[in-house]
Amino acid sequence: MRAEKTDIFVSGGGIAGLVAALGLAESGFSVALADPAPPPTGRNDDLRSTAFLEPSRLQLEAMGIWNALRDAATPLEVLRVGNCKGDPPRIETERSFRAADLDMPALGWNLPNALTRRRLADLAKSSPRIDLKFGVGFSSLLTRQSEAIVGLTDGSRIRARLAIAADGSASPLREAAGVEVETTRYGQKALAFAVSHPLPHAATSTELYLSGGAFVLVPLPDQNGVPTSAVVWMHDGPEVLRLAKLDDAALGAAATERSCDMLGPLSPISDRQVWPVITQRAHRYIAQRVAVIAEAAHVLPPIGAQGLNVSLADIWCLLELARDAPGELGTAIQLDAFARLRRRDVLARTRVIDLYNRLCRDGTPAGQLFRSAGLRLASDWAPLRSAIMRAGLAS
Ligand SMILES: Cc1cc2nc3c(=O)[nH]c(=O)nc-3n(C[C@H](O)[C@H](O)[C@H](O)COP(=O)(O)OP(=O)(O)OC[C@H]3O[C@@H](n4cnc5c(N)ncnc54)[C@H](O)[C@@H]3O)c2cc1C
Repeated sequence: MRAEKTDIFVSGGGIAGLVAALGLAESGFSVALADPAPPPTGRNDDLRSTAFLEPSRLQLEAMGIWNALRDAATPLEVLRVGNCKGDPPRIETERSFRAADLDMPALGWNLPNALTRRRLADLAKSSPRIDLKFGVGFSSLLTRQSEAIVGLTDGSRIRARLAIAADGSASPLREAAGVEVETTRYGQKALAFAVSHPLPHAATSTELYLSGGAFVLVPLPDQNGVPTSAVVWMHDGPEVLRLAKLDDAALGAAATERSCDMLGPLSPISDRQVWPVITQRAHRYIAQRVAVIAEAAHVLPPIGAQGLNVSLADIWCLLELARDAPGELGTAIQLDAFARLRRRDVLARTRVIDLYNRLCRDGTPAGQLFRSAGLRLASDWAPLRSAIMRAGLAS
C-alpha cells in the first residue's frame, strides 16, 4: 500500500490532539490525525470539565477555535480557597482570588470535556487541511532525518515531516519513539461528577482542602434555571472507590458535608468517573521527527486547573516555531527549540503542583497549620498574592 504524505501526523484525538491539528491546519499545514476511539458524540464519555485559563482562551481565539466553544463556556470570576478541619469538616481559613484583582474579565472559562471534544472534532471535520481518522490507531514508527513513517492499525502508512504524540498518558507513539517517563503515585484517586444545588455559584470556583486531598466545585451553566457545578473530589484510592459506589442520595449527602454546605444540599445529576491522581513527566519531549505533548509528556494532579492548560502551552509553542520557520518543520533545530522552551515551564509546574498536592492532603496538625498560614500569607500580602495569581495563570 502506498503511503499517504502529509506535513504533520497527530496521534490522539483527545482535546489536545484536536487543538494541535486545528491550530497547525489554520497555519497552512496539512494534518492527518488518528485515534482508535470512535468519533466523539458529545455524550458523557468524559465527565470531567476543564477550566481554560484566560491565557489559554486567548490562544484558542488566536487559533480560530474559541468561537466554536464560547457559548457553552461558564466564566470563572473568583477562585475561593478554603482550608478545612474536623469531622464533619468546617472551613478554618478562607480566601478569595478575583479576576478583577488582575484587571481581567475572568480567571478562566469552564467547559465540559465531552462537549469540547465534539465541537473540536466537528470543526476539524470541516477543515480541508485535516484528514480525521477516528477508529484507526497509531501502531508503528520508523524515522529518518527527513521524515517519520507511521503505520496505522488499518495497515495504512503515513509519511510526515513531523509526528506529534498527543495520545495520552500511556502514549504508544511516545513509547515507539523510545521516550521514557517518570511517574509519582500518591495512592489518591479523583471522583468526577456533576451536581445541582439551590444556591448560585456566582461564577466562583471553590477548592476546599482537608486531609486526603482537595474537593473542587467548578461552575457549569444552569439547567432549567437550577445552578449546577462540576465536582472533583480527591481522596485516598479506597475511599474514592467507596464514594463512587454510593447511591445518589448518599453521595449527595456526603458531598454536601464535604463542601461544608457552601452551596446548600448537593444533588448528583450525572454518572461518576474515577481518575488516577499521578504526576508523570517524560524524560524528553522530542525524538527524531517526533514532538511529545500534553498528557503524553506530562500528567498533573487535578488541582490549580493546570493539566490541559500546560498542554495548550505546548501546542502554542510548537505552533509559533512552525509558523516562524515552516520549511524547518520537524527538523532537529526546531524540535530542540521546542524542548528547550517547554522544559523549564513543565518542570516548574509539575514540581509546584506535586508539592501543593502533598501539602494539601497532609492530615497532621502541623500540615493543617501550615496550610492555613500559607493561605493567609498568599492572600493577604498583596505582592505575593499578585505574583501567585500571575504565575498560576501564565500557562
Ligand atoms: C478529574 C480531572 C479534572 C481535571 N480538570 C482540569 C482542569 O480544570 N483544567 C485543566 O487544564 N486540566 C484538567 N485536567 C486535566 C485534563 O483533563 C487532561 O490533561 C486532558 O483531558 C488530557 O487530554 P489529552 O488530549 O492530553 O489526553 P487524552 O484525553 O487522554 O487523549 C488521548 C487520546 O489518545 C487516543 N489514543 C490512545 N491510543 C492511541 C493510539 N494507539 N493511536 C492514536 N490515538 C490513541 C485516545 O483514544 C484518546 O482519545 C483534569 C484531569 C482530571 C483527571
